[in-house]
Amino acid sequence: MHKEIVLNQRYVLPTYRREPVVFSRGRGSYIYDVSGKEYVDFFPGWGVGILGYGHPRMVKAIKEQTEKLVNLPNNFYHPYQGLLAEQIIRHSFKGKVFFANSGAEAVEGCIKLMRAYGAKAGRYKIITFHNSFHGRTIGALTATAQAKYQKPFRPLLAGFTYIPINDVARLKKAVDKKTVGILLEPIQGEGGINIFSGEFLRQVKAFCRQHDLLLGFDEVQTGMGRTGEYFCFQHYGVQPDIMMLAKGLGAGVPISALVVRQGLTNILGPGMHASTFGGGPLVCRAGIEVFNIFKDEKVLHNVRRAGKIIERHLRIMQAKYPVIKEVRGKGCMWGVDLRTKGAVYFKEALKAGLVINCTHETVLRIMPALNVTSDVLEKGFAILESVFKKLR
Ligand SMILES: *Cc1c(COP(=O)(O)O)cnc(C)c1O
Repeated sequence: MHKEIVLNQRYVLPTYRREPVVFSRGRGSYIYDVSGKEYVDFFPGWGVGILGYGHPRMVKAIKEQTEKLVNLPNNFYHPYQGLLAEQIIRHSFKGKVFFANSGAEAVEGCIKLMRAYGAKAGRYKIITFHNSFHGRTIGALTATAQAKYQKPFRPLLAGFTYIPINDVARLKKAVDKKTVGILLEPIQGEGGINIFSGEFLRQVKAFCRQHDLLLGFDEVQTGMGRTGEYFCFQHYGVQPDIMMLAKGLGAGVPISALVVRQGLTNILGPGMHASTFGGGPLVCRAGIEVFNIFKDEKVLHNVRRAGKIIERHLRIMQAKYPVIKEVRGKGCMWGVDLRTKGAVYFKEALKAGLVINCTHETVLRIMPALNVTSDVLEKGFAILESVFKKLR
């Protein structure tokens, strides 16, 4: 066995199921293991690698910033935090940003903001949706309405109610005098690419207005161009009060953001919330470069173009292989729902030189870099097709 695998198994807590592959470098949409084998990556960094590996401009910005200043505590200012916040606000909605380091941490910020908003009136309950995924810290885990993740950690945080997606009647029934907010992923990622309907989200928004509820969109996975708009809410024309970003925001460096609309920006005041690493110069500089690259290289345009290619391939495969029950997605975020368990497809693809993901047992997840080329897509789908042929 490879030395790195031996060391890992000896010294790292076994919290992850891992494949016996050691990757050492990447370039664009390709990643290479230590033996030099090349893989097409249709799932770079679980949605983090939105510009692929080693984008020259990202490398340059990060290198330059590393030499100047990597970390700075938030009792001072540096040149990049305000600039990145401005970019996020300009592309989403009027408001302000809090920077943190992970998706779960952004979700924690959302839960705290909702609770602080409701505190005077004694409101603290939050509604989330079956098969949602919001992260692994206790608050985010409680928001994650999946028993399999919660079970050993009970009792969880008080005040969460779980309902099915796209069901207005259930939503109205779930709200009571103590409810303060609703939290959802406009397209559920880890839960199997489940898409909220525009009709439902518009009704949720109206309902929130009527009852003074805060609407939080967890766009940790759908944000930063993944679905063909900067943020997924823009497809629906339904603006949330609070938005969470993480995965793609730094295109590889750990940074997350809580985006809060105008009118709610004083709920979390000095001393109420903080994060030591949050919004440091290195990660903010990286985030700014992501926005610059989006503009200069017309990345959103590519997402829409790539999305059409992906959908065409998947629909053709669906017609050919009855094991495919349903194909769902938008832009560069797709799920292939199988009538059987997907793990073997994922493993066979990996052997054949293609990285995909299997989530929720039966759903193959395909989320390539947002600047993926047609050539790479053709190559990856040829491998995927060969896997389906083999397993038929
Ligand atoms: C990945 C993910 C999270 C958790 O992010 P971490 O950085 O792992 O804490 C939260 N919400 C959504 C929608 C995600 O996809």
